[in-house]
Order: sequence, then C-alpha cells, then structure tokens
Amino acid sequence: MAKASKAAKFVYQFGKKKADGDGSMKALLGGKGANLAEMTRIGLPVPPGFTITTEVCTYYYDHKQTYPKELQKQMEAGVANMEKILGKKFGDLNKPLLVAVRSGARDSMPGMMDTILNLGLNDQTVLALVKVSKNERFAWDCYRRFIQMYGDVVMGVQKRPGEDHEPFETVIEGLKEELFAGQPHVEDTRIDAEGLKELVKRFKALVKERTGKEFPNNPWDQLRGAVGAVFGSWMNDRAMVYRRKYNIPQEWGTAVNVQAMVFGNTGDNSGSGVAFTRDPASGEKVFYGEFLINAQGEDVVAGVRTPEPVAKLNKVMPKAYAELERIRKVLESHFKDMQDFEFTIEEGTVFMLQTRNGKRTGLAAVRIAVEMVKEKLIGWEQAVMKVPAEQLDQVLAPVFDRTAIRSAKVIARGLPAGPGAATGRIYFNAERAVEAAESGEKVLLVRVETSPEDLRGMIAAEGILTARGGVSSHAALVARQMGKVCVCGASALQVDYHAKTLKVSGETFNEGDYLSIDGTAGEVYAGEVKTAASEIIQVLVERSLKAKDSRTFQNYDQLMKWCSQATRLQVRTNADTPEQTANAVAFGASGIGLCRTEHMFFEGNRIDAMREMILAEKKDERQAALAKLLPFQREDFIGMFTELKGLPATIRFLDPPLHEFLPHDHAAQAQLANELNVSVDKVSKRVHDLHEFNPMLGHRGCRLGIVYPEISEMQARAVFEAAAEVQKRGIKVKPEIMIPLVGFPKELQLQIDIVHRVASEVSKEKKTKISYLVGTMIEIPRAALIADDIAKDAEFFSFGTNDLTQTTLGMSRDDSGSFLGRYQELEIVKQNPFASIDQTGVGRLMQMASELGRKTRPDIKLGICGEHGGEPASVKFCHRIGLNYVSCSPFRVPIARLAAAQAAIEETAAKKKKK
Ligand code: ADP
Ligand code: MG
Ligand code: MG
Repeated sequence: MAKASKAAKFVYQFGKKKADGDGSMKALLGGKGANLAEMTRIGLPVPPGFTITTEVCTYYYDHKQTYPKELQKQMEAGVANMEKILGKKFGDLNKPLLVAVRSGARDSMPGMMDTILNLGLNDQTVLALVKVSKNERFAWDCYRRFIQMYGDVVMGVQKRPGEDHEPFETVIEGLKEELFAGQPHVEDTRIDAEGLKELVKRFKALVKERTGKEFPNNPWDQLRGAVGAVFGSWMNDRAMVYRRKYNIPQEWGTAVNVQAMVFGNTGDNSGSGVAFTRDPASGEKVFYGEFLINAQGEDVVAGVRTPEPVAKLNKVMPKAYAELERIRKVLESHFKDMQDFEFTIEEGTVFMLQTRNGKRTGLAAVRIAVEMVKEKLIGWEQAVMKVPAEQLDQVLAPVFDRTAIRSAKVIARGLPAGPGAATGRIYFNAERAVEAAESGEKVLLVRVETSPEDLRGMIAAEGILTARGGVSSHAALVARQMGKVCVCGASALQVDYHAKTLKVSGETFNEGDYLSIDGTAGEVYAGEVKTAASEIIQVLVERSLKAKDSRTFQNYDQLMKWCSQATRLQVRTNADTPEQTANAVAFGASGIGLCRTEHMFFEGNRIDAMREMILAEKKDERQAALAKLLPFQREDFIGMFTELKGLPATIRFLDPPLHEFLPHDHAAQAQLANELNVSVDKVSKRVHDLHEFNPMLGHRGCRLGIVYPEISEMQARAVFEAAAEVQKRGIKVKPEIMIPLVGFPKELQLQIDIVHRVASEVSKEKKTKISYLVGTMIEIPRAALIADDIAKDAEFFSFGTNDLTQTTLGMSRDDSGSFLGRYQELEIVKQNPFASIDQTGVGRLMQMASELGRKTRPDIKLGICGEHGGEPASVKFCHRIGLNYVSCSPFRVPIARLAAAQAAIEETAAKKKKK
C-alpha cells in the first residue's frame, strides 16, 4: 500500500525553505529540479514551484503520449502551494501568478530543451500585471516574450529551411525599422509599451498565419501545452544527437519544472545573469560570469545583447553583488564543487534559479581539484574523482608554438571560451564543415553565434569561432564540454553567410582560407600558425620547460601523485621503440604491456631482410635471412630495456600474416625482385600464394611460429641476448615473452619449448642467468574457455581485446563502419565495442578466463593490451575484475592512471557503504 501511494507521487513541491525532494534525487527530479529543492532546503532564495518527475516522461512515451490520471490533481496542488506562498493566483485578474516551465534532464543538456517564461499571461492578465507592477512597458514586454517563446517551442513557429532568421525576430526587426528608421543595432529595450503592444498583435497574427490556430488564452491550457512540449522535446533530433554523443540513455527521460516567475526586466534595478564560482576555462578562483541589466534570462544565453562581466555589478548594484558573493561561498561549501548558477535580480533582490556542478575544461578541472584540496574543501580522494579521466586529453593538447605565434598577426579578439590552439580552414555552416572534415581537412567553424543545429559541425571542427555571445553562450558551453578550442564574441568579425566571407579590419577571408584561434587567450590570427606541445609534454617529454615554471604541470603532477597513492591496477604502455618507452615511463607507466615486434621490421632496410625471409623456399635460406634481422631486433630490445630501468616488458612474438610485409603492386614487386636478385614471377607468385580470404583468421599469430619455428627462435634469441647485454651494464631486465593467438594448449607448449631452449643456450653462451616469464594472449574465445588448461603453461595472460572483441562478436573491426553507426543509433550496442569493452559479452569471457586461470595458477599475472586499455570505462572494468595491469599507448597513460585510481577509490567507497 505504502509503495503504491509512493509510486503515485508525480509532483514534488519546493518553496519557503521546504522541499519534497533534495539534491540526491537527480534520477527522479532531473538535475535542475533536484538542485532547486536542495537550494530551497539550505535557505537560498529560490522562487517556489514544483517538479514533474522523469517517471511521467517515461509514462508519456509508454502510453501514446498521455499522462497518468493523478497528474492534473497534483499539478493543481503544486500551483495552489505557489499561490499560497506568494499571495497571487494563476489566471487572476488582480494579482496574476506567472510561471516558468523548464525542462530538466538528469544530466544537463545545454540548449537541447526550451524554457518558457511568463506563462499565464493573456489579454486580460496582462492588464492586471500592468496595474500591480505599475509598469506598462514591463508587462507588455513579458507578454510579447511569452508569445514568442510559446509560439516557437510549443506551437512550432520556427525558422523554415532556407530562412536565415527566426520569424519572430524578423517581426521585431521589421517593427524596429519602422520605429527607428536609419538607426543601426537598436536594442530591444528601446521599444516602448506602445511598440510592445503592437508586437503582441503582430506575433499573434504570425502564429495564426503559420499554424492556423489562435494563441491559447486559458492559463491551464497554456500550462498543459508547455508541459507536453517539454516532454516532446526529449525526442527531438537535437536531443537525440546530443544523447548519442554523450551516451545518455533514452529511458532516463526529462523532468519538467514549473516555477513562479521573478522578473529581471522591470527596469534598471533588475537584471539577470549566469555565473561560475570559479573560472571554468582556467580554473582560477575568481567570481566569473556575466549579467544584463533589465533582461530576462534567455537574453544572456541567446547572445541577443552582449552581457557585462559580473564584477561590474559591484558598481551598479553593490548590495546585490554582495549577496551574490555570499551565495557563491555558500554554494561551494555546500556542494563541494565549482558551481555554474543562474540568477535573476528583481528590484534589487537576488533570486537563484539554478545551480549545477559547472562544466569546465580539463585544465580547469585539474586546477580546481588540486586547489580545493589545498583550501581543505575536499579530500585528495575526492579531488581524484573530480577530474573526468577523458578530460586529461585536453591538458595534453597542443598550444601555439612560442616562436610561430610571435610573427602571427592578431586580426581580432574575443572571449577565451575553450582553451588550446587550433588552426584550420574556415567554414561558415555546419554541413559544409562536416563535409570538409570528412574529406580530411582541418576545419574551423565560424558563426555569428551557434545554436543547437550547429552541433554536428562543432563536433567535426578543430575549433569554434563566433562573432557574438558571451562566456555562457551556446558556443562556449558546448566547447567547454567537448573540449574544443573556442573563441566567442569576437565582435570585430563581420560574417556574411550568404557570400561565405569573413571581413575584419579591411581584410576579407573566404570559405576554405586558413585562420588560427587561441582559446586560452581569446585571440584570432590570420593564416595557419604552428602549434606546440602542452606544458606537461614540454616538461616531461621534450624537457624544454622546467617543472617549477609551469603551474599547469605542477597541478597535473600533484594529481598523478594522488593517483599513485590510490591505485591497485598498474598502467603499462604499448611501445615498440626506445623513444615511446621513454615517453611512457615519463608519464608514469610501470612497464611495457605490449611490444609489437613486427613494427620493428618495417623500418629502413629491415623490411628487405624480412621480405627475403618470407620469400625463402628452404629452411636454411630462411634462417640466413632471419640472421640478418637478429641484430636489428636485439638493438631495439637493448634500447627499450635500458629505458625501462628494471620495469617489466611484455614482448609479443610475430603476429600479422606474412603477406602484410610484401609489396602488392607490380612496380614494387619488380623492384624487390631486383634487389633480392630473384625473378618477378617468383615474387608475385609468393604474394599470390600468401593471399588469404580472411587474413584476420588466417596464417598469423602463433600459427607462424608453429609452421616456421625458426622465426620464434630468432626472436627469443634477440630478447635474451639483449637482456644479457643490458644486465651486464648493471640494469635489471624483466622480459615477459608473449605468444599470440593461442587457442590450444599444445600451440603454447611448442612455442614455450623453443623459448626455454634458447634461453638456456644464451645463458650458457653469455654466462649469465636471465629471469623471464612466458605467457600468452587471450584473444580468441577458445583460449578463454579453456583458460585453466592454458594456465598450466602460461605464467601470465594478457587479454588482446581487439581480437577478442572481433572473434567474440564475429565482427571485423575494419568492416564494422558500414553498420556500427546504425547499431548505436538503435542502441543494439550502447557504445562502439572496439572503443569501450563490451562488458556483458567480451567482458564476461575475460572474467571467466581470469577465474579459470587463477584456479590453476593462483599468482598468474593478468593484464590487457588492446586499445581498450586507455579508455576509462574499460580501465575501470579491468580493475573490477581484478586484473594486475592495463596497457595503452604512451600518451594515454595519464588517462588510464587516473581512471585506475578512480576505480580503486570507487571500490573503497562502495565497500564502506556496504558496512
Ligand atoms: P536551461 O536549461 O536552458 O538553462 P532554464 O530552465 O534554466 O533553461 O531557463 C533559462 C533561463 O530562463 C534561466 O537562466 C533564467 O534566467 C530564466 N528563468 C527560468 N526560470 C525562471 C523563473 N522562475 N523566473 C525568471 N526567470 C527564469
Ligand atoms: Mg538554466
Ligand atoms: Mg591480436
């Protein structure tokens, strides 16, 4: 019974320091609703209202777009509560209550859903509002805004294909032209009450003309229409594109918030703004944001007028500014994170309309996390949890080359909205930008301002440049989240969509011309400017910058130290050269998890010896060719062992099919024949013989070493001779030899026999003992199924998740492009299984193989070496199933370290919770 009545609660009220919900209820109330409740509870000034739960959204789509029957009653109770608190009435002709209808998904989806303000106004209530406010202009301004928003969002009066401007904006521009003929850039605030009345008339006519319907007069009809539109927008194109990009499941749904209006547009003692408790681009602890006097909130975000920095508020409304500073502190100490909040000032009084953990750049994320620990606001474990692992990529992203930038010419300045350096060819339209990017060009998307329709173009571009809009404009918001380089509000730019040109200080740039933007400084440069490595790379890899001279590096380094403190899962690297090894070690790798020995055969004249080996018909010819390869391979190992300074190195024996090493066109075959002094026919015949229908499943992996044991023998010799050599220099060496593509125990045994034999030969020759391990990759399902048997011989397993995914799914990675996109859209797979481990399928095999392996050999070493080893969700999964290490490319090592530390902290937290 209790459960049934609880399930029937669809509306959660908040107001006057009391709230049915709280900040932890984001799944049910959406992010906005949950935090409105939380802010109400902690006594912040929030206008009263109620939240319709996400369950209603789910119900709505499960029941042919209808509502549960209890909803209307509960909404009426919600409205009654607001009326009681405020002493106003919905639809009343004396003191009308006006409301905002606001969407609110669990995770904020910037710009995806539309808000409707001033709902409850009609031809009668507007007159009442004139009376109570004693402000005719204000009342009619509210009314025209309401018709505009409702007409757009609910009734669908929008830009038609081919139109450059929103139809309502066109009407406004038309009226302004009549009223202020000849004056450019007239602000909306200059239209007086009579003008606004005229606008209302024209807006209604526009609605009628476009939809054939009258604008609804009854406030309850208006409210129901608005609620339906919010739920409807959950399934619009833009929302779906966004959800796909950020892996937000469709079934989450959105909530709807209905909230009493407060007014920022009553005059010069009112205003509206957006602020961050710290700078979201750099992370610096400064009050950051912007506001507009005499405006309703949408104006700030929409870029209709250019807002002022929030610090200026101190001059014009010092009391309100002091209150905001107080709120800023309360927010951080309560939410323990940087907040992004929205406020409105009505006649000098501050109201809070929203708060959430602010989106920030990777750079800012690291700085804020580290500084909040110093300020004793959070502990170091929380700091580690606060930086999204994927975002470290941005911290490692390039900046402009210091010398190149000195000679580059600044053509405009804007706001630094997304840090980093980007250079590319300019495109003025999202579709064109996408096309150009798909054909391999580096692209900068240039717009007057961006809107959600531009999302695809923004994803495709290296960087985004806008002429209008502030730090909370759509472009800035999205750039921050995607980690795109962005400069916005570069007002000197004159963008002409029609002519596809950009004019600035007398120069004209055409579509396809190069520009460069610095999103850290907010500068725009003509032409292509060379980029340079991030400060972290300059310190660690290039060693061209000292640690003490780089705050960015110091913050990063502190974070990584905390990671080491938390971590159980080790992070190794995939490296085939001494240089890659050195880089990875600088990033904190604890060894090599995968050395692909075949990569060593592609360089210079090694490929010749390799080809000679492949073309050999007899064993002794093959051995002669292999003998030429041996010194190369040995030298590479010596280099890597030296760089590793005692850290372990997993070395995989030759894996790809031999035909990959041979030339395929006639000219190259002729040249090879000439070099090796054999006939062209012989070469082309061998290429032909080696052709396979299904190379991925063909003669590769250990199958090579089984048929040509002399290959494995040479490779083992190279490893051990190198080990003996480096050991002699006083450096410890820990080779771990890995046999690929094993499916049968016997395959592994045969290869292991060779390795042991060669090891003892080399030991004797060099008079030294070498300790090493021999293990296998688990990359075909059969190996996972009989892992207990395989573990009898294998001292370690390394999951080759690229091949394991291909073979388990029966899906070739290189051929999946034609269908995988559709699979993701239909949510057959939630994510690309080649990017993030398919945890329920492939992951289950990994888990099973781990358990079987440990049964036979309790101390068996377990790792993963597929590309997944650098992807945060996969890294966390590897931690949870108890692997010893993941391995990834050198530049992903910091990301994997952070993800590994987070997995360990999450596990400890979960254990504590259980107790
Ligand atoms: P979004 O999710 O796009 O940020 P919001 O629901 O936060 O949409 O609404 C956008 C803006 O509308 C807010 O920033 C605020 O300025 C204004 N707004 C929302 N609710 C109210 C309200 N109750 N009173 C006055 N303005 C409001
Ligand atoms: Mg908002
Ligand atoms: Mg493989």
